Amino acid sequence: MTKKPARRVALCALVLVLVAGLGASILGSRRALPHANSSELTAAAQNLDRLTYELIFRPDNNTLAVTLTWDFANRENVPLDDLVLRFPANAFASAQTSPAASEELYDKSYPDGFSPGGAIVHDVMWQDETAPFVLDEQDNTVLRIETGTLDPGVSGRLYLRTVITIPRALYRFGSTDNLWMLGNALPFPAGRDGAVWKTLPFYSLGDPNTYGLYNVVMTLSLPRDTNCAAPFLWQEDNKSDLKILTGEGLAMRDIALVLGRNMAMHQKSVGATHIVSFADTDDNAAAALKYAEKSLSFYEKTYGEYPRPVYTVAMADLPFDGMEYTGLSMLGKSQYTQKNHLELSIAHETAHQWFGVLVASNQYTDAWQDEAVCEFAALQYVRKMHGHAAFEQLKFLRADSPMRENIREDITLGSPLDRFHSMQEYATVVYGRGLALLLSLNESIDMNGFLKDYCEQFAFKQATRADFESVLKNYAGWDVAPLMIDYLDTAI
Ligand SMILES: [Zn+2]
Repeated sequence: MTKKPARRVALCALVLVLVAGLGASILGSRRALPHANSSELTAAAQNLDRLTYELIFRPDNNTLAVTLTWDFANRENVPLDDLVLRFPANAFASAQTSPAASEELYDKSYPDGFSPGGAIVHDVMWQDETAPFVLDEQDNTVLRIETGTLDPGVSGRLYLRTVITIPRALYRFGSTDNLWMLGNALPFPAGRDGAVWKTLPFYSLGDPNTYGLYNVVMTLSLPRDTNCAAPFLWQEDNKSDLKILTGEGLAMRDIALVLGRNMAMHQKSVGATHIVSFADTDDNAAAALKYAEKSLSFYEKTYGEYPRPVYTVAMADLPFDGMEYTGLSMLGKSQYTQKNHLELSIAHETAHQWFGVLVASNQYTDAWQDEAVCEFAALQYVRKMHGHAAFEQLKFLRADSPMRENIREDITLGSPLDRFHSMQEYATVVYGRGLALLLSLNESIDMNGFLKDYCEQFAFKQATRADFESVLKNYAGWDVAPLMIDYLDTAI
């Protein structure tokens, strides 16, 4: 893949020197914003809409004021009837719709009882004029803005103001006394298939709403004792009484931030990538930074270059191991108590930067296509770092055992997300049996080599199951379809 330009390496080195000089939590000020460090990212960022967020975080009342400007252009050959934004925060308004309130998760997510979150929409303007809008009746997560017909080639500016309330919840969108998790919590354009906006509900098992790519510019105002983990490097304006941070990310599929009071931030430049680790203590931040570096370096060698200038691993209070977003992984706080758990979780979440973020797939119909592939990648990492015995032990736990579990007859690896009854069932089938499929294929096909080809061919795109099978068939030189059907569509 393309070599990263020397200029970018120099900038990273400069940032590191400055950061070291200024202390762990301060990122200097008024330097040029970081830009793409790979030609793939530069190319992917061309001709994308831009989202500009201005955020004001008020921890005392758990709110985030959001002003969003969407510089839109219809770049497809079909007219659109309206613009649609998702408001994932609104799914958290009631226990009936909150992804954190499933039977399995409720007590873990809401240890002090249910706490509502949500977003109040104040102003919506299209081309500087107030625009009528409707929120869907089911859970208010689909905001349709009546712009009138938008023909191919038409461009314009949408502006809106909203205030988000962050629930007291140990979840990807939630807060505790000192941590605020904002994983896919900001308003974001709905994904689109031609002229059809994707408006699936948000599930506790996974988030099936694959969005398009957007260039993001963000300004965040927050108290001085608060840090923010982000998928980009912040520039800090030191002139104000408040802390004002500015950041920029290219070709982003989603946005996640984690805010925390008095958090430790460790960072390091590895090649042209700046790795940031955000945790409650120096020891935890250092440990996660080490595993992030090891896994990122292993995947770069195995699956191709990490195309972004920044990768962040952030401690979060979650009822599960971790959660991946563009350029940022959240790691459950409990993972940090056992370093081998932390390493494995970071290996899995970091693999998502290739499988899920770089190459998107349909998380509703084909969850295995990123989850099982990340399990496979994490096992390859373990074999490389810890040897064959560690690999075999994990294979037994994470692939062989799930193959022996009893699962309802109408569930297969290829079942859509809403068919699974529980997280346990979903994990056994999608992660465990999916991993078994890939390990089985790996007995006769070099799956690492195939996955590298797959990343090259579908970087910054979405790959269907048919795409996966087609690249695999070409790579292997034989028809893999019967084996895939055996694992994906056959109940056992
Ligand atoms: Zn995963």
